[in-house]
Amino acid sequence: MKITVIGSGYVGLVTGTCFAEFGFHVTCVDKDEKKISQLNQDIIPIYEPGLNVMVANNLAKGRLAFTTNVHASIREADVVFIAVGTPSRRGGGHADLSYVYSVAEDIASALEKYTVIVTKSTVPVGTGRKVEQIIRQKRPHAEFDVVSNPEFLREGSAIEDFMKPDRVVIGAETERATAIMRELYRPLSSPETPLIFTSRESAELIKYASNAFLSTKIAFINEIADLCEICGADVQAVAQGMGLDKRIGERFLNAGPGYGGSCFPKDTLALIHTADDYGMKISIVDAVVESNSQRKQAMSAKVMAGCGGDLKEKTLCILGVTFKPDTDDMRDAPSLDIIPSLMKSGAKIHVFDPQGQKEGREMLPSEVKWFEDPYDAMTGTDAVVILTEWNEFRALDFDQMKKVLKKPCMIDLRNIYLPSHVQKQGFDYLSIGRSPVY
Ligand code: NAD
Repeated sequence: MKITVIGSGYVGLVTGTCFAEFGFHVTCVDKDEKKISQLNQDIIPIYEPGLNVMVANNLAKGRLAFTTNVHASIREADVVFIAVGTPSRRGGGHADLSYVYSVAEDIASALEKYTVIVTKSTVPVGTGRKVEQIIRQKRPHAEFDVVSNPEFLREGSAIEDFMKPDRVVIGAETERATAIMRELYRPLSSPETPLIFTSRESAELIKYASNAFLSTKIAFINEIADLCEICGADVQAVAQGMGLDKRIGERFLNAGPGYGGSCFPKDTLALIHTADDYGMKISIVDAVVESNSQRKQAMSAKVMAGCGGDLKEKTLCILGVTFKPDTDDMRDAPSLDIIPSLMKSGAKIHVFDPQGQKEGREMLPSEVKWFEDPYDAMTGTDAVVILTEWNEFRALDFDQMKKVLKKPCMIDLRNIYLPSHVQKQGFDYLSIGRSPVY
């Protein structure tokens, strides 16, 4: 079976490479010539752990190819995945489907034999039907099916998530397409990995409902964290106590600076707009979006409080700017709101991030000073602010920090340290949802 994946970003590249790893012949397509040229030279344009080795291995075995030639790659394929971006439309929260529809047009002009077209991109309910219409209009007699197969991988653990997903959701409407999708996912089908077959609409909505639910968990624990700070409880203990209840589950109950990234912010907004298009209001998701937006403002106020209430003449060392560890992705990262807000209050900013510098330099204000080493970034600053919980920030050398900082002060917006431990080292320490006595 020959597979073509259109869009070689975080999802398309991982999907294509993992299918190649199973033994399929995969062509990954992108309209970005620089990206394709890099990939053809074994240079991975994104940071995703383990991806470079897997790409090199499959390129060497001849199972994986990269091209900008959309039409040729569609003609040869039995299955075409659409994995292009679906960002928020400018000036609103609807998903911008222009990239998806443009690929549908390409597919329509290239189809030569029966092909299964799979939307892997996160798309609102009804998009699969629209993609089908676009192709049908141009090619009334072409043989094809359009399937929805949303992706649930997380950046930073994308390969593991793709290879061992909790479930695979397939919204297919014909026996023929269902059989091909079953064959495609057979390598990872096991009792632990159910393949769920649904209508296209259900598959499309499962993705948005899942992301909105996870965003709700995060916003919920963040508000509980605020309450903990006022009433003297410890959000770490509260989250643990809640999470051990199997009906709740412990994941996505980490209090922090608010959710960000390339999915939750845009997908919650798109879900609200989908509901609105159908004449209804999803008030819970509305509240989550509002709560998360306030959260980021509250975080810069928290940092200011941790620095004695005034940031004028202060320099802060920010550790981590990507939206989560183990990725270089800066899209909608909390740092993009928090850092400019700190600067507006007068702070000068030093930044260290293990992988975020390339994108961060383009997305953060140019006055931000970038460093290649965390201790260099701390040198001469008034406080260290942990914004992203990269593993290398979990065991910082407090003695070295005390030597280079103006005064020992840490604001930990990811709760990666125990207050008692940091305070024992002589630091002023402020974290999320915990009073300093814990
Ligand atoms: P991305 O921006 O990293 O990649 C999209 C790629 O598509 C880009 O390289 C772009 O150049 C290419 N592209 C756009 N139009 C094209 C065209 N007409 N022909 C060929 N290539 C084209 O995006 P991503 O993060 O991989 O996300 C893709 C989709 O998957 C989105 O709908 C997203 O919501 C969804 N998704 C993302 C994640 C994630 O963690 N990033 C997880 C699950 C689902």
